[in-house]
Amino acid sequence: MGAYEITVLGLVQGIGFRPFVAEYAEQHGLTGSIKNAGGAIKLYVECDEVEIGNLCYHLRYNCPEGGRVDNVIVKPVEEVLYDEETAKISKELREVAEKMAAAESYEDEYMYDRGWLEPPSKRVKPHDETKDEEEKKAADKTEEFKTEVGASDDEGNVTEGVVLDEFGRELDDRFRIIKSEDYDEGARYLPTDIATCDKCRSDLLDPENRRFRYPFISCSKCGPRYSIMKTVPYDRENSTMAPFNMCPDCARDYKEPGSRRRFDQNIGCSECGPKLRYYENRLVDEVQMTQDEMLVKTVESLKAGKIGAIKDIGGFHFMCIPTMSEPVTRLRAFKDAVSRPFAIMFPDVEMIKKYCYVSDTEEELLRSNARPIVLLSRKPESAEFVPEVLKGSGYIGATLPFDGLQTILSNDVGPLVITSGNRGGEPIITNDMDMIQFLPRIDSADGALGEDRDSDTSDALSAVAFADETIDKKETTYVGHPKEIDEDIIDFMLTNTRDILAPLEDSVAQVARIHSPVSKRSLIQLIRRGRGYVPEPVILENDLPKDTFAAGTDFQSSFALGKKNAIYLSEFYGNMTNSSVKDVREKAIGRMSELLGVKPKRFVGDLNPNYQSSKDADNKAMGTYIDGIPQRIVRRQHHACHVLSVVAEHGLTGRLLGVSYDGTGYGMDETIWGSEIFSCMLNDTLSENDKSDSTVETRPKILRSGALLPVKLMGGDSSARDIKTTLCGYIRACEERQLVSPRTVDMVLKILGIDRGDYGIISACLRADIGIYYSACMGRLFDAVTALLSLKSRNTFGGESPIALEDAAMRAFRKHGVTLKDIHLADLRMKVIEPKGEEEIYRMDQSVLIADLMEKVVEIYDKNLSEAEREEAVDNLAFEFHKAVIDSTVYICDKVCGRDYIQHIALTGGSMYNRLLLDGIASSLERLGYRIFINNKVPGGDGGISLGQMYGELI
Ligand SMILES: [Zn+2]
Ligand SMILES: [Zn+2]
Ligand SMILES: [Zn+2]
Repeated sequence: MGAYEITVLGLVQGIGFRPFVAEYAEQHGLTGSIKNAGGAIKLYVECDEVEIGNLCYHLRYNCPEGGRVDNVIVKPVEEVLYDEETAKISKELREVAEKMAAAESYEDEYMYDRGWLEPPSKRVKPHDETKDEEEKKAADKTEEFKTEVGASDDEGNVTEGVVLDEFGRELDDRFRIIKSEDYDEGARYLPTDIATCDKCRSDLLDPENRRFRYPFISCSKCGPRYSIMKTVPYDRENSTMAPFNMCPDCARDYKEPGSRRRFDQNIGCSECGPKLRYYENRLVDEVQMTQDEMLVKTVESLKAGKIGAIKDIGGFHFMCIPTMSEPVTRLRAFKDAVSRPFAIMFPDVEMIKKYCYVSDTEEELLRSNARPIVLLSRKPESAEFVPEVLKGSGYIGATLPFDGLQTILSNDVGPLVITSGNRGGEPIITNDMDMIQFLPRIDSADGALGEDRDSDTSDALSAVAFADETIDKKETTYVGHPKEIDEDIIDFMLTNTRDILAPLEDSVAQVARIHSPVSKRSLIQLIRRGRGYVPEPVILENDLPKDTFAAGTDFQSSFALGKKNAIYLSEFYGNMTNSSVKDVREKAIGRMSELLGVKPKRFVGDLNPNYQSSKDADNKAMGTYIDGIPQRIVRRQHHACHVLSVVAEHGLTGRLLGVSYDGTGYGMDETIWGSEIFSCMLNDTLSENDKSDSTVETRPKILRSGALLPVKLMGGDSSARDIKTTLCGYIRACEERQLVSPRTVDMVLKILGIDRGDYGIISACLRADIGIYYSACMGRLFDAVTALLSLKSRNTFGGESPIALEDAAMRAFRKHGVTLKDIHLADLRMKVIEPKGEEEIYRMDQSVLIADLMEKVVEIYDKNLSEAEREEAVDNLAFEFHKAVIDSTVYICDKVCGRDYIQHIALTGGSMYNRLLLDGIASSLERLGYRIFINNKVPGGDGGISLGQMYGELI
């Protein structure tokens, strides 16, 4: 018989882990206790060696759904001091034990302090107010069986005697769940929000069930967590569920052994849980409706073509039906999403399959706990939605309902357009006050709005806090917002009385297929990492030297906090140039640091001196003193950090080739980078021989070995949007190097409708070096080709033109074959320039490729093809362009790997979301015998870059 302290690390809170262990302990007659400790779980167990082995196996491998166990640490406790077991205990522990044996009372104290034992006075205090709710439940349960023997003091504490259960055993022989404690376990694991599980879904839709159509349904395996957590550990009283007192039925479910809702921190029902609120204008409406009437009204309104703002988990969503143009167009205008396809929520996978091709991996991803929006290839016959929804995209961003409310709505209405509840570029709205301003100003029933709208704003504001039940609902109260706007954007709002503490947007993912001869496989790529994934950490092999903050970039801004071996990426915040994004992000930095117990001493950011994110981090650094010295931010190169994000995820060591194809990022020289092929020498790689080799020692750890040959382009933020201007830069470069004839230039300008005069001005600026930059950026090359093939003329949202180009190429690919290698549709090649000296790198000559494409575009024009023929010819060129990029990349990778003895290759950066490009490069390199790694846990775009910035601390 021994006594053990077991620490379970991982995602173990808010998933019913303690009841899961308590049940096992009861079945196996184990005695001891379990509790939340910080973000971990701690057990104290008395049993023999075989049992402890079984228990640990159970903890490690049978973790309840929604959770994940990373580590189970077992420490023998020095209770049985002098038996054979003790001999095995380390010398240090024995010293402590001996010291304690010498002082009996100290030993007890020591045990109490650590929570291995509870003080006798606490053991028999079922009515003690200081105990938390959980403990009360446990105590209530034991109370049913026990008989008390002994005398009580004035306060009712039993001062002596024993407590017996129904079997006459001492109460302490039982396995008990005890009060949570603070515990600095190092890396902390907070639970993510989990989508409604299948069982709760059945309960929700079962008219016989007590929770039929209860929108906030949850169990110990599903429901919101991180978004409603105030502090650790994850307990009801530490969340925004605290104000909702359980009704007797829920209290019974909460403590009943075998109940799916045992210890569900979010437990509730229509009696006792959060309440819905329905509004159609900016006045606190006097309409009295039952909860279900509000649901019915919402369904009716949506079906009638109205736009609703629906508060669910993580924030508001705007929803409308995809079969009417008017609401979709209105929503599009408000969201400033001119041509971005909208995502669609479907009631179930079966319906998604009517509209899209869904592979097994994609189905798994759709149904996963995080329930992201998944980009799926659209079936050609799926034309039931109005064109305004998808804007001609070949993909549908499809998703399944995340919570009970979404389940009810999509079940009753059918497919719904769903988009985050915010104005384009702003953070997602989480509170009613910010949303209500977009409702109609006029109460349709009562006519005009009261004139005294400025009379008492503060009162009016408190009226929308809704928490205050004392508001006289008969009285019409104006609930205007200081940021008054004049638009009636949404038609109604369905909100609720549970607060959201962390705004979380929907996560977006896709599945890429690698058709490699080595292994055909599907890989999940996260495009936006939000609800369901945040704040799950990326676990490293080694510890960070200090708590660290990484600022990310200004676009798709997300930051990271690091402690010991865990790096936590924040949710995605949009563009930092928006001041409200900046505020929300600042708040989140504070909340996350607090929740995760991270106190940054190191600060990392991007090389770009103009990034607001890095400036902010630098300010934070300067306010942090170490040995009296204020810190400064460490700046790291953008594309190298993309590569390091893959390294961090996969724990890669040794020699590695990193391919980072991306949008713009500050280079180490004066140019803009974005097509980087790095030869990397990571830690743990240098053998003793290598270390003595001076050439190795002086070599940088990350060596730029290949990139596009830079082209002079017009600068400014507008150039990323106006892809025709970008193209003009390329045309000008071709002209200057006499790669194209003057006739070709004239013809291309004519075909694309580019004014000769405008082109002349751009040329003059480029010649005179006014507002220009040198670009070796893959994103810009894709933009230019998209413009040249007349597929798009503007980027209204990030990635718009590359997506159009990929769509066109995919059409040709699907039509002509299954493997890239076998298809040949046009003669296009990207010339590779070999390095001549030590200083030089491999260069891909993008201008030559553009020049060839220009000739082909003119050829198509000259042939006078029909519309369909022309489209097909353009698709073929798009495909061959992809192939040219793939071939030149593979050529350089193979050369550099051969030169530097590299076998592992990381593919990353925003351009790797292009599935044709990724598949082409990855499968070709695998055919040559290389091993490929891509981002799986964090986005390969800028949303994941803070992971790489931070990982730089370790190389
Ligand atoms: Zn559930
Ligand atoms: Zn209830
Ligand atoms: Zn980037």
